[in-house]
Amino acid sequence: MFAEHSSDLLMHLAPNGSVRFVSPSIRQFGGLDPEAMIGTDSADFVHPDDRIAITQEHRACLAMPGIVRHFRHRVIATDGSIRWCEAHARAIMDQAGAIDGVISIVRDVTDQRSEIEQLEAAALTDSLTGLTNRRGFERKVGERVRQSRVSRDCLAIFDLDNFKQVNDLYGHSAGDAVLCAFARLANLMLRHGDTVARLGGEEFVVLFPDTGSAQAAEICERLRRRLGETRLAAGGSAIRVTVSGGIAAIGPKGLEAALRMADAELYRAKNAGRDQLSIAA
Ligand code: GH3
Ligand code: MG
Ligand code: MG
Repeated sequence: MFAEHSSDLLMHLAPNGSVRFVSPSIRQFGGLDPEAMIGTDSADFVHPDDRIAITQEHRACLAMPGIVRHFRHRVIATDGSIRWCEAHARAIMDQAGAIDGVISIVRDVTDQRSEIEQLEAAALTDSLTGLTNRRGFERKVGERVRQSRVSRDCLAIFDLDNFKQVNDLYGHSAGDAVLCAFARLANLMLRHGDTVARLGGEEFVVLFPDTGSAQAAEICERLRRRLGETRLAAGGSAIRVTVSGGIAAIGPKGLEAALRMADAELYRAKNAGRDQLSIAA
């Protein structure tokens, strides 16, 4: 009765992995018919990328009877959608003490998982502008490091000029609207593969993959010029802001060194009168 009515899926597998019993809740994965599955290989219903892992789990259960193993795997439902499952499995023995197969309880955790994914995405996003935040940026650079491609990349740090005055003159929420407008403009002016992130406050960083500093400078210059020409609508005012930027190639010294160099260039651009870029040699 438990098996008939549980929303969790109950399975009994033979030592070779074939299905001896599967409860009716298998129907939640599309039109799978529990009767028709008897005698078939249980791995056939698992996502191809998880089949090796699931076979190893099955063997581990058989090798350690009495130990409950806990693992996750994907199932492709009959409508083609991918479902995430959480399984608890253990070997069972017959009355003579010989291993008789594996029983497992499988729960569809797809919805829980998408909630986790949403939380993860939120943790990498700046809530004001919707841009990637510092952590997201570090993760993005981490990907480039793992691909051994980061040394071909270039980065730019942008800092809005006299932003304190914007807040003082128009109010903090108008300042927020200016930050959002800059974020939108940056996304518009940058290329598809470039990543712009908000480092904090009125400071932004852009990663230019596979790009030399001359080309990055050209793109940054277009953004700087466009910003200066644009009157940003914020809280009933049309606000003109400018931005300064420092650009550095990442090169073999890595991200930290490049950020320091770009920051030194930014400082130089500010000292030289703002509303301009400075490029590391
Ligand atoms: P500079 O040209 O030298 O960069 O001058 P600045 O005024 O932009 O620099 P400063 O670092 O003195 O001021 C930055 C200001 O940015 C101060 C702070 O109140 C404001 N700020 C930081 N984060 C936010 C935010 O999220 N919203 C708003 N509205 N203002 C912010
Ligand atoms: Mg600043
Ligand atoms: Mg500033």
